[in-house]
Amino acid sequence: MNPFYNPVFLGKILKRYLSDVDRLSRISDDALRRYQDKQLRRLVYFADTVPLYHDKFKQVGIHPNDITCINDLHKLPFITKDDIKQYYPNGIVSPKIKKNSLIEVSTSGTTGKVLPIYVDLLDIVTGLFAYMRTLHEYDMNVWKNRITIIGDFAPHTAESGYITRGLQPRLNLMRMFKNIQWLNTNDDPKKVIAAINDFQPEFIGGYVGMLGHLALLKETGFGEKISPQYIAATGSVLDPFLKSFIEKTFHAKVFEVYGATESGLIGFQCKQGSYHLMSDLVYAEFLKDGRPVDSGEGGEMIITKFHGKGTPIIRYNAINDIVAPLKGYCSCGKASALIKKIYGRSDLALYLPDGTVLLPSSFSEIYSKILYKLKTNKVKNTKIIQYNLTTLEIQVVIDQALRTIGPSVEEIFQFIQKGFKEKTGTGVTVTVKEVDSVDTSQGPRILSMIDKTKYTITHYL
Ligand SMILES: [Zn+2]
Repeated sequence: MNPFYNPVFLGKILKRYLSDVDRLSRISDDALRRYQDKQLRRLVYFADTVPLYHDKFKQVGIHPNDITCINDLHKLPFITKDDIKQYYPNGIVSPKIKKNSLIEVSTSGTTGKVLPIYVDLLDIVTGLFAYMRTLHEYDMNVWKNRITIIGDFAPHTAESGYITRGLQPRLNLMRMFKNIQWLNTNDDPKKVIAAINDFQPEFIGGYVGMLGHLALLKETGFGEKISPQYIAATGSVLDPFLKSFIEKTFHAKVFEVYGATESGLIGFQCKQGSYHLMSDLVYAEFLKDGRPVDSGEGGEMIITKFHGKGTPIIRYNAINDIVAPLKGYCSCGKASALIKKIYGRSDLALYLPDGTVLLPSSFSEIYSKILYKLKTNKVKNTKIIQYNLTTLEIQVVIDQALRTIGPSVEEIFQFIQKGFKEKTGTGVTVTVKEVDSVDTSQGPRILSMIDKTKYTITHYL
């Protein structure tokens, strides 16, 4: 039976809509903490019915009764990607939940390591409400305002799981929300900008890379009727320069939304510019060498997701993002934890001789500058290889159709080399070379051959 025709399920959704969307604006810090404690207790009891967690809890001698509040969270073991892979498929879901009510989604395949997990429909609805929360923050009404969402609708992704396989067959979203346009970030940017131009949205949500391409196209005369009030950027680190380029080009305010397949939405920037966590939906720990970092200091983010009856996510250590928490409060009054900065993926890092680790937030600046300073998108692909502490090779694939248009390839290469040299200092040799294609099958676009077990990190850049 289609659960959306089921009055109990619809009732749950309605209740959820009313209580979830603006919860952070309504409740006090104390109430939030009590809510988190309750959610954690419920989650741990549920997780104990899932073989993976049951075994893990048993190994460390923990019973669900031992976990009464968030302060007990540290007693629970970390969950890794390998744990989930090892127990997939039947060991990562509860036998109490009907398998056909769950939807399989997997993390992005760009790093070559695809991880399948299960979500349920309520999970998906909660995810949508979390996104609605960000829209509400910017006074957008999901039933009225014209909204364009440029999602990653490749077959395996969370978005496809959520929308194409999850909600669409049950709800006919397209008919229900005529004011929402769904586009695919894997399509050609020219096709995407033409569609947005026809739709003329007040709000655009999309991935950083696609938004950069759209801004460049807009600057060269495409999409002249596009003038949204707000643009939400997601998916990877948005450096301040690219952000202001997109803002200027579209005459719109850009804010960031932060999430991951395994956890759903994690955080968003409020109107004041503070980065709030969705503290009623997820709980994040930030650790360095196993201990919590200080406010403002980068640490490995460990995530616990409160909602859902699919694969539980408790102390999951493989989002791999380095994030700095921030103590204090935002003047907007929302009850939630704050973060200061997202440095990006720790498995996409370069290691300098002095202990400095360059993370995506640092070198994405170099590539976005090609876009907004050299005004070209002829760098079609790139791979960064670190052979040792003092040798970097940057491989670049040039879009042949654009080769003779705009700045020369030599100019771009010098620009890239200079950009990296500024980050690495003079002790590192940086070579930029053109290749026909980059091999990403063996791993991500950033490959460091440094032995991390023998490397001491002093700080993140
Ligand atoms: Zn705020």
